[in-house]
Amino acid sequence: MTKTKIINYIGGELVPPVSNTFFDNIEPATGKPYSLTADSDEQDVANAVVAAESAFNTWQLTSIDERAAVLMRLADLIDQNAEALAQAESVDNGKPVSLAQQVDIPRASSNIRFFAHAITQYASESHTMANEAINYTLRDPIGIVACISPWNLPLYLFTWKIAPALAAGNCVIAKPSEITPMTAFLLSSLCQQAGLPPGVLNILHGYGHKVGEAIITHPKIKAISFTGGTKTGAHIASLAAPKFKKLSLELGGKNPAVIFADICNDEPDLDTFDDVVTQVARASFANQGQICLCSSRIYIERPIYEKFKRALIAKVSQLNVGDPKDVNTQQGAIVSQQHLNKILSYIQLAKEEGGTILLGGEQRYIEGRCNEGYFIEPTLIEGLPLNCRTNQEEIFGPVATLQPFDNTEEALALANGTEYGLAATVWSNNIKRCHSFAQQLDFGIVWVNTWLMRDLRTPFGGMKQSGVGREGGVEALRFFTEAKNVCIKY
Ligand code: NAD
Repeated sequence: MTKTKIINYIGGELVPPVSNTFFDNIEPATGKPYSLTADSDEQDVANAVVAAESAFNTWQLTSIDERAAVLMRLADLIDQNAEALAQAESVDNGKPVSLAQQVDIPRASSNIRFFAHAITQYASESHTMANEAINYTLRDPIGIVACISPWNLPLYLFTWKIAPALAAGNCVIAKPSEITPMTAFLLSSLCQQAGLPPGVLNILHGYGHKVGEAIITHPKIKAISFTGGTKTGAHIASLAAPKFKKLSLELGGKNPAVIFADICNDEPDLDTFDDVVTQVARASFANQGQICLCSSRIYIERPIYEKFKRALIAKVSQLNVGDPKDVNTQQGAIVSQQHLNKILSYIQLAKEEGGTILLGGEQRYIEGRCNEGYFIEPTLIEGLPLNCRTNQEEIFGPVATLQPFDNTEEALALANGTEYGLAATVWSNNIKRCHSFAQQLDFGIVWVNTWLMRDLRTPFGGMKQSGVGREGGVEALRFFTEAKNVCIKY
């Protein structure tokens, strides 16, 4: 059977790469190639820039109502094709199809719909100087911008970037991860059907170090919105900063969950404890732990440490690891052989560092269709100090460590004790304590008694090595526009 060729979307057309070369795209659940991805290079970037440049003249002057309308049509088309997109996302990434159906694809259309609405409400400021002058700030589109996204939430994060960029009137050169290109490719045809003018969005496929780097170094690309690993982000910043390109970097995390003993204080509402156990399990293992916001360091106040540990082990051991296509699967495949090896090497490291494996710790073999797929047992580890590599470096897989703490100060020091600062969760019945604790956490996002509850109007991003800048709501529209102050003297 001939394999689908994942090709570029340039100037409104689906076109093969100039080099006409492709590489295998692997299905993680089977370990087998199932499609071919365009191996694009700087020639394709040059073509995309020409298309974007000519489209920008019109798109920047297109009314916000018209821009919003075409984006709404695109969001509707994603909804109409939701099941096919969810199946495609699950095959391409290895995530359970139920997760793609419930989270990834609905969120992709919400992203686009949200920014289609947001642009119609976007206003700039004016500052009057009594009887002397008025200042007003123009917020014009930047021009041609780059959006580069990772493999863990493919269409979800791809649309999270392109939607505000397009709504604000920019033309976009976007690149999904070479590991999960399929749904961005399928989106190309939906853009054609929605009537997005040619060249407004261009989607290039291929390797980060090749076509990705050609995009970010192209002199006509003035802003880069990047989500991915911290090391890649640092490399991109080193190339883009001397060229004074605008940069938004959403990077890695090593997120703590802090659980206070007072979650057991609310008798007769005994459900709280079980609910926290369920939610912490979800926060640590959703998408096989491959969400930048997943909790990977679980800190539990000592009086409930053993009880919570036992309950968490019981909960996580019930997670159904299996074929992502099966609607009952809760833990699908790891995204690639390389990433599987990385996660297994961290589990080995945890043992060498003195950790005790409480649950899992091994590769999982699934019979039948998936017998060569990349599966790992959800893994819980205890007995490791804060300053070991297992607790300092991002593993980005179904692995979490547990550690007791004795007081709030210690919990804070543990939670803040890494170079990352993306997302923290706090679990307590004492709201006053939660508020004060949240204030002292060095994280861009703090969830109290919940996880992954997202309001798209809120600022999203990390501190320290988790990134620079914020996405979401007005922050994204600010990033994708250039501010110009005009001062008129009366
Ligand atoms: P990655 O850094 O390897 O790749 C991300 C993207 O960058 C891919 O599209 C890749 O092709 C491209 N790329 C790689 N090298 C490049 C280069 N030299 N120039 C231009 N583009 C290049 O990351 P990944 O492995 O795909 O994703 C996992 C990482 O993403 C994890 O660290 C995770 O924490 C992070 N992440 C962060 C967030 C967030 O919002 N902060 C969200 C999701 C994932």
